[in-house]
Amino acid sequence: MKERVLILGGGIIGLACAFEAASDGSREVTVVERGGFGGQATGAAAGMLAPFSENVEQPDAFFELCLDSLRRYPEWVERIEERSGMEAGLRRTGSLGVALHEADLLPLQSRLRWQRAAGSGAELLTAAQAARLEPRLAACAGGIYTPAEAHVDAPQLAAALEQACRSVGVRLRAGQGGLASLELRPGDAPECPVALTTERGERFEGDRLVLCAGAWSGEFERLFGLPETIHPIRGQICAYGVPDGEVRHMVFTSQAYWVGKSGGRLVCGASEDVAGFCTDVTDRGIGRLERWSARAFPMLAGMRPSLRWAGLRPATRDGRPLIGRLSGYPQVLFAAGHYRNGILLAPATAAAVLGLLEGDELAASAAFHPERFRRGFSAHPSGAFAPSAGAGTSAPSRAEAAGRGDDAGRTAAAPGGPRRGRA
Ligand SMILES: Cc1cc2nc3c(=O)[nH]c(=O)nc-3n(C[C@H](O)[C@H](O)[C@H](O)COP(=O)(O)OP(=O)(O)OC[C@H]3O[C@@H](n4cnc5c(N)ncnc54)[C@H](O)[C@@H]3O)c2cc1C
Repeated sequence: MKERVLILGGGIIGLACAFEAASDGSREVTVVERGGFGGQATGAAAGMLAPFSENVEQPDAFFELCLDSLRRYPEWVERIEERSGMEAGLRRTGSLGVALHEADLLPLQSRLRWQRAAGSGAELLTAAQAARLEPRLAACAGGIYTPAEAHVDAPQLAAALEQACRSVGVRLRAGQGGLASLELRPGDAPECPVALTTERGERFEGDRLVLCAGAWSGEFERLFGLPETIHPIRGQICAYGVPDGEVRHMVFTSQAYWVGKSGGRLVCGASEDVAGFCTDVTDRGIGRLERWSARAFPMLAGMRPSLRWAGLRPATRDGRPLIGRLSGYPQVLFAAGHYRNGILLAPATAAAVLGLLEGDELAASAAFHPERFRRGFSAHPSGAFAPSAGAGTSAPSRAEAAGRGDDAGRTAAAPGGPRRGRA
């Protein structure tokens, strides 16, 4: 009998995990989605694949994961496009990090050496060179050009991925509402299968459960007795109507970014707001982007964005995702909390989840272990995590999750940790 894998959440992470898990035909994969496929944050994202621009301080495990994912992208997108017959909108434009002031040059210079060693191919640019690369840019002090970076059309990629999932036999169940109940016992599959019932009243059974609920994943940390670290950080973002090709690269400044998309859209993002699960767009949030747009691209002065929207990034306490298996419930895997980089990290996350499903316990780095915030947890010498003596799981034997999780009155804690970036 095929192993049955249940995936909760149909954003880019859930769909990517489903596609990978189902591709070799050895598993029966079902994605259970509360609303529509394509996700929440996923549908809002700028789609930048920018590990170098997003990791400006030092190479660490998170940077390595981002870089690994970027390297997987071309082949991954090719497979998705082949399976779906749809385009994902991958554009290898490279990026331009711009110093609008002399003081902004130092951070660009200091990241150059280690990023070049990691394969960025980056070059420092004088003001004149930056102007030649990006003629519409305002006068600046200089910049850094990173040819290795690219971007995709995130909603288009998600739509292609959904179709690719269908073509490899993934069962897609949308409109399920929240989780009404979850039944499982500590221990390993197949003796301890998982059963979940949705608010719509459908019941799903599986041998494995992969939790990919984006900004709503905190409720599952809570359910399994873990500290609740995943929380929403709203990103407000907008797009100007600008002819294709006017802005050739992804452009980053210390305050905002711009990405030219097909169809005459120049996307500018993004705010980072603590607003609970509220997805309202505010004049204040977009006004800030408008001011920076006018500053960086004089052609945008006096123009208003033609589109404005917002999404909820799934943030974690240290800015890193949760990817791994629960020690007390080995049939349960987390793949959530990708914060600003979930589009970039989708292929590497899916590969790690596939490795874990295949029994490779080192497929996901200990740096991303879902229990790392629990007191008493320590890294095992092998690199895997192991609970210290006496640190058992406190998740109930029959876990009941009630409510939709859209708790508009709640205020999320600001993400801590050293991560800096802009997506
Ligand atoms: C403005 C903005 C710009 C961004 N730009 C970039 C970028 O340029 N590059 C990049 O890499 N990343 C970017 N990101 C981050 C990226 O969008 C996210 O990290 C990524 O989309 C997270 O994917 P996800 O599948 O985990 O979450 P989501 O896309 O939010 O999907 C989660 C899904 O789970 C479902 N769900 C929740 N609870 C349940 C439940 N109980 N049962 C069933 N389903 C459930 C939800 O309905 C949703 O469909 C950006 C984000 C924002 C907001």
